[in-house]
Amino acid sequence: MTPDAEFGYELLVCRYAELAWHPSEGPRPAIVSRQLGTKERRWDTLVIEVDPEAFAARRAFGDRTIDSDLLHVVRGAPAEWAWYRDALPDPGYPWRYVRRAVHRAAGRDLIEKRRDGNRIEIRRRRAYPDWVERIVAVENKPDLDRSAADRLAEQLEHDVTTALADEAWLATETTGERVEPALLREMPVEAGILATDFSRGVDADAADVAWHPSDLSPADGERRDAETETLRLEIAERAYGKGWRSFHDTMRPDCRHFGLRRDGRALVPHCAAKDKVPTARECSGSCDEFSPEPPQWRTKGWPIEGGPGKGVERLLARRRERERDRGETVE
Ligand code: SF4
Repeated sequence: MTPDAEFGYELLVCRYAELAWHPSEGPRPAIVSRQLGTKERRWDTLVIEVDPEAFAARRAFGDRTIDSDLLHVVRGAPAEWAWYRDALPDPGYPWRYVRRAVHRAAGRDLIEKRRDGNRIEIRRRRAYPDWVERIVAVENKPDLDRSAADRLAEQLEHDVTTALADEAWLATETTGERVEPALLREMPVEAGILATDFSRGVDADAADVAWHPSDLSPADGERRDAETETLRLEIAERAYGKGWRSFHDTMRPDCRHFGLRRDGRALVPHCAAKDKVPTARECSGSCDEFSPEPPQWRTKGWPIEGGPGKGVERLLARRRERERDRGETVE
């Protein structure tokens, strides 16, 4: 079954990426996230290719995102005790915000802090590793028509010019037929085209490369500016903390109609009342058919275990964890 909703398609592309990244270059360790970006641009799917050893070192900092304020502190924390204003680069905003971030970072055990008179000193617990190898942006469009192609061409053009990502792709569904060549010609030549066929579910063979992407990373001997590097790291950190199965954060797994269905090697949300993959927008508190899971479901093991809704959340969290483990081991 191929879900009609773009949301459902997006989840299948994410799962495919998890199983088969990189589609033309062979297996690479990577983590996958969805709906992330900057003020100007939000990507459907983001694949963060990682250095396995450095990624293991990143995991030692915990499972949560290290946000931009914390990154400033964690990356700059010295090996020996020092006043935080001496140790960290000038933030370009008032130091009192940095002081707040120092307390937050110490509260999460990301760094150590101590008081020396009226000065706060910091020291790192471990060096923050350089774990992000490449960032790949994927736009998902199951039904590629003229207007979608125009819009996508603009978005992908933006990716190519900002070079925030190292590679940009369009994923589109073919169900066995070729993608319309006239529409593909509209796309920037630098963007890769992934022709998916999820009619028999998701597995590592469910997509073909219809067009190879260009490498958008800086040429040999050139570097991105520091601001772009930091922005890329912030995006990667959010991808690490969020993953792509966090749809339960915005949907209603606590609704009695909510469930997960297997689609090949993917698990996608399913609404029994509507008999379809619900979109994140319709599966919300304002859904007319929302019906809370009965209290007696929750008393099975409640309050420690929770009801089926909690079970869905735990299952998705376990999956995310397992994929992180994979990031360390794939050759
Ligand atoms: S009935 Fe509404 S809230 Fe419940 S699972 Fe379906 S879409 Fe989500």
